[in-house]
Amino acid sequence: MENRISHATATPDKITREEHPQLYFANGDIVLQAKLPSETENLSFQMYCVHKAVLSLHSVVFSNLFADGSANLESVYDGRPLIEMFDDADDLSNLLLFVYKPSDYLMRTSHPDTPFELRGAVRLASKYLLDEARADMIRRVTMDWPLTIDDWDICGGEREGLVRVWRDQRDRNVSSHFVTQRTIAVRTLEPVSAIVFAQEHGCSGILPVAFYRLASIDISAEWELRCYLSAEPPCARWSLCDKENLVRYIKGRQALEGYHRAVARQMAAGDILSENCLPWCTIDPPSPSTGDDNLEEYMKDAPCFHFIWTLKELVWGTQPSYDPLAALLKLADAERSPSEKLKRTCPHRLCLECKDSLHKWVHSARAGLWECLPNYFQLQ
Ligand SMILES: [Zn+2]
Repeated sequence: MENRISHATATPDKITREEHPQLYFANGDIVLQAKLPSETENLSFQMYCVHKAVLSLHSVVFSNLFADGSANLESVYDGRPLIEMFDDADDLSNLLLFVYKPSDYLMRTSHPDTPFELRGAVRLASKYLLDEARADMIRRVTMDWPLTIDDWDICGGEREGLVRVWRDQRDRNVSSHFVTQRTIAVRTLEPVSAIVFAQEHGCSGILPVAFYRLASIDISAEWELRCYLSAEPPCARWSLCDKENLVRYIKGRQALEGYHRAVARQMAAGDILSENCLPWCTIDPPSPSTGDDNLEEYMKDAPCFHFIWTLKELVWGTQPSYDPLAALLKLADAERSPSEKLKRTCPHRLCLECKDSLHKWVHSARAGLWECLPNYFQLQ
């Protein structure tokens, strides 16, 4: 095996063994040892004292090994048979922690480290045939990611609630706002580790939403320790992002920029309005293209068109949003609760028919966009 060690060249005084703080049970009956990464020539091992019955219960491989008359268990450590594991110690720790204390993961709310920690553990679960633990770990990662637009909105609503509480605490100068800020940070999912987890372990259903989340993160925002304290600005573990995924990120962002422009065109063309409220210039556009001076003239008798046009200028804007699902909701929200500027500019607001048309359009545009995500990020 690639990381097999050679005891023949190691002198005993260069070997250190660390008993795992949570996985060295006094009543364990088997010891596992895995090499720890080291930058020196010294050999360092992580030691686990665990239970044959527990390993056998979860793994056919261990069950067969222990049933095999202990033929390969001649080494002894701390009075118990010793098995040398040729696996990454962190991966083995995370797998054993999941087996012994699944509640640590199952009861933890969504967390940016979950796919990062469980990626190697799932790999080992596949290797040693811990089928149920493997399925549970995959489920633990995927359950954090919404697979429908409704679930996306529910997650967004929960987050908005937390942010509201945090702002309120901060404005009242309550010290617990730091705790709430940390809660928001540790509930903020990190997309790159989820993407590589999903690609390695075949749970591709979360890829479109994970890439969509990644698209709104700046490529210079690398994950660092402060991300556990504050969710702003959003960061990603870019160091895990390979070339193919980087291309998906770039193409996806280009597609979202194109989407932004397409919506602006639809708004300018009056596509969102009831047919009864279209001004003549959208049906029979003057040539050359409509200038702003003339537009005011055209809009005099078309207050609904004027409202949507103003919504485009004030709310949709010219800068592309890399979260158009949220930007589309802002259009509907602005109609329901217009800003003072929007009210001043368009005192007539929308007629009932156009209001209905706008909200239906926002709903269907968001659903359509959600369906397009796999295509945008070249996942099909
Ligand atoms: Zn109208």
